[in-house]
Amino acid sequence: MLNKQIIESALNKIKARRVNAEALAYSFFEKAMANEEFKKNFKEIKQAEIQNAKSEVYGEKPKYDLTNLLKIQDDILKKLEIDKKAISPHYTCAKCNDTGYVNGEICSCLKREINLILFEKSGLSKDKKSFENCDFKIFDDPKKTQKLYEILKNWCDKKNPYNNVLLIGKTGAGKTYVMECMANDLINKEVLVYFTSAFELNQNLLKYHTTFDETKGQYLHMLMEPDYLFIDDLGTEPILKNVTIEGIYNVLSERMRNNKKTVISTNLSLQQIQDFYGDRVFSRLLSQASSLVINVENSDLRLKK
Ligand SMILES: [Zn+2]
Repeated sequence: MLNKQIIESALNKIKARRVNAEALAYSFFEKAMANEEFKKNFKEIKQAEIQNAKSEVYGEKPKYDLTNLLKIQDDILKKLEIDKKAISPHYTCAKCNDTGYVNGEICSCLKREINLILFEKSGLSKDKKSFENCDFKIFDDPKKTQKLYEILKNWCDKKNPYNNVLLIGKTGAGKTYVMECMANDLINKEVLVYFTSAFELNQNLLKYHTTFDETKGQYLHMLMEPDYLFIDDLGTEPILKNVTIEGIYNVLSERMRNNKKTVISTNLSLQQIQDFYGDRVFSRLLSQASSLVINVENSDLRLKK
């Protein structure tokens, strides 16, 4: 599970929609029920429905044809000048009827609300950067940048199988910009996306390491659960003994095991990554089969596997 508080506050928004839809429908229903004719007809419909449901349980054909009763209901409502549709709730999400879950799985509407909260927390800029509204002219080499965007857009569209993306290049090369475009693109696809800095990630790893009660898990859930995790500026965080390298290795391994995608940007060279984080992290980040490694500065954008 993700951070409980985040799910709860997202779920509360969905539930509020349900309550509102039902309250509105009920106000019209009550108005109709004040009419004796409607009330009698409504009871008849309900009884017939119950009998039919029983028949269904026993595998029999339904006993009652509701057509006539419903026709009468329509006529009464018309007379009362109440819209027939208004007496049943109109949920915002037809998939989950504003419950947030479909067969125990998080519904796309709840994912959207969670993403909005994660977006707020992530520090992503409000002027939503995207592949569509990118001004390529602001980059030194617009053509190269466009090609880079195409590659990464394809990755976001799942057109290639890499689990991880590693963006390498010096500060100011546009790595964060590119990552924000990717994150926004994915948020619109209704997957769970969490964008964090390496510094903040390190803080979470430290909190996990130094917490000994039941709240411990939440610091890792935020890193493990999202379908896509963005880690900006790997290498700017202090390396804490027994925390940073082990934590990053665990996050990467666990995410790969669960087929969850991770995107990392760094100013470090490949050699520095190996020197700072060791062979285990290095091999996770640069494994031939699972990582798309792009040097943002490299003029021919050669993709090193
Ligand atoms: Zn829904």
